[in-house]
Amino acid sequence: MVTVHAETPPALIELKGIRRSYGGTGGQPEVEVLHGIDLQIHAGEFVAIVGQSGSGKSTLMHLLGCLDRASSGSYRFAGHDVSQLDSDELAWLRREAFGFVFQGYHLIPTESASENVQVPALYAGLPEHERAQRAAALLTRLGLNDKLDLRPNQLSGGQQQRVSIARALMNGGRIILADEPTGALDSKSGEQVMALLHELADAGHTIILITHDHQVASQARRVVEIRDGNILADSADHSVPIQSKAEPLRLDPSQAQYAAANTLWNDLRESARTAWRGMRLNRVRTGLTLLGIVIGVASVIVMLAIGEGARRQVLERMGTMGTAILYMGSRPPATGGPSGELTEADLQAVRELPEIRYVLPVIGDPTTVRYGSKDKEIYVFASSEQMPAVHHWPVEQGRFYTEAEDRALAPLVVLGHKARQHFFPDTPNPLGRQLLIGASPFEVVGVMSERGADSGAQDYDDMVFIPYRAGRARVYQTQTQPDYVVMQAMSSEVVNEAEAAIRTLLIARHGREDFGIGNAAARIQAEMATRRSMSVMLGLIAAVSLVVGGIGVMNVMLMTVKERTREIGIRVATGARQRDILRQFMTEAVLVTLVGGTVGVIAGLLVGAVLIVSNVPVVFSVSAMLGAFACAVATGLVFGYMPARTAARLDPVAALTGE
Ligand code: ADP
Ligand code: MG
Repeated sequence: MVTVHAETPPALIELKGIRRSYGGTGGQPEVEVLHGIDLQIHAGEFVAIVGQSGSGKSTLMHLLGCLDRASSGSYRFAGHDVSQLDSDELAWLRREAFGFVFQGYHLIPTESASENVQVPALYAGLPEHERAQRAAALLTRLGLNDKLDLRPNQLSGGQQQRVSIARALMNGGRIILADEPTGALDSKSGEQVMALLHELADAGHTIILITHDHQVASQARRVVEIRDGNILADSADHSVPIQSKAEPLRLDPSQAQYAAANTLWNDLRESARTAWRGMRLNRVRTGLTLLGIVIGVASVIVMLAIGEGARRQVLERMGTMGTAILYMGSRPPATGGPSGELTEADLQAVRELPEIRYVLPVIGDPTTVRYGSKDKEIYVFASSEQMPAVHHWPVEQGRFYTEAEDRALAPLVVLGHKARQHFFPDTPNPLGRQLLIGASPFEVVGVMSERGADSGAQDYDDMVFIPYRAGRARVYQTQTQPDYVVMQAMSSEVVNEAEAAIRTLLIARHGREDFGIGNAAARIQAEMATRRSMSVMLGLIAAVSLVVGGIGVMNVMLMTVKERTREIGIRVATGARQRDILRQFMTEAVLVTLVGGTVGVIAGLLVGAVLIVSNVPVVFSVSAMLGAFACAVATGLVFGYMPARTAARLDPVAALTGE
């Protein structure tokens, strides 16, 4: 008699001639562990695969669960050729179809029971509150409602195994792959776990139980015996149709897309949460890594601020002196003899040089100045009407004297800000008053604006200014030539040419070099160049320290990946894609540098504040801070990428079974 079943459903799992070999590379001999396995498992079956240790059971389970690929043979899952699926589709299959239960539980030690159960749903994109609710419901169903927040090391073996079963059920767990689930448990806990598997089988889950224990295996509805990589016996009775309550699994790898709906923001937040926990657990190590980044960022900020401060200081000095200023005075020639005399005709000739804009002869000496009953030794500065232009220094009240007045020897005086306050403290308008300079009366025609602290030796605010010719005629009668001459070149670019032209001209006129020319602009420019190269060097040192910080991050990340190999295996087994793992570890690296960068910016500001208090000129720039911060984060990305990629590329089976 032949019973014909109207509807024999197609096998859920169909293995044909599956072989798996190890080795064969690096001089190691190739060893075949599975020698051509043929096996069909239907939805809703409760199958035990039994065999001695080393017979290839775990290897088979890893193949069934799509954690590993066969060397040859075909594996069809719900009619699809598994070898045709790419790694994302395999991840999707692991996530949606399989739930793994391992002998060693394989819980993530740093996460609570509830969080461990939630891991598969993370990669399925379930919203956070639904995830937590479902985990709590599952754990409650397995009698662990009071253990939700405990970590694996706070649970007994039996409890841990129940947590791992809850995790296997998190995404539905249509097919439970249990590798020696009772192997590490005492007999009572083992019985509880077996009872649970029975319950699940009754509820329609497909159970594939792997064990070396015939006693345990005999509890399954079907027993497949494996020895040395071959199937020895199979109790399958295909005459009985499988009564499955499970809905048929529709495998559509195009659905693998839907995890993408999981928002990037949620993914990042989840990664950041895990990363933050890891950082807290390894406080000392994290702190030391952070220190590298902090020092790097802080030194970039401080070095740049010091460089900028120095630059501004030089610029400021240039601003007050002008970048194209030359000084000249007579002096004895190096070859001996008396010093020369700079005549009016000499100055006129210099004035006519094309490189020269202004020529300003100056005579200045402390002289007694009197107004009413007040008198004071004050610096009387006799120079031409071009003085305000040369010094970029405006008149505040009244006016400056003119060239015509200078030529006419007009006795006019313009007061510096302090001089005005000294002589006319209560007079709002001192214009028109008469000052006695030396023995001659001078009329006040103007007041200069306040110049403020100057880098020069003299305080320009505490002077009075009189026309050059009137000064020579009325105050400095004995003076035959200017004390010195201030000249301005056409631009700072031609200042050296101007100096050379003046020298050539005057040597031709005097027949010898009986004068000296001071080139302030050249001095300042040289100083500027030195400071600039110093800033560059400081910047380089700072950048190097940032790179060193980055290497620290990489080092720690590599250690983290090594330590958490098993966790990575667990995440992959529960459905994480390579990019999920990559993102998680990148997030950790970036988080370290974000925290380090923030602390670094604060530290940089503090150091800068100390420098300001101790009178070192520093100028902070927001762009330097943002730049240093961005560099730190970029360092995290660059130096975190390699370890993260290492993590993402780990072989899941090796990660799960290795140390
Ligand atoms: P079981 O789970 O039945 O105890 P396994 O499937 O773990 O057996 O291992 C079967 C055989 O395959 C063993 O001889 C083991 O040494 C070998 N094997 C398993 N994994 C590897 C591997 N990664 N490289 C080399 N040999 C392996
Ligand atoms: Mg095994």
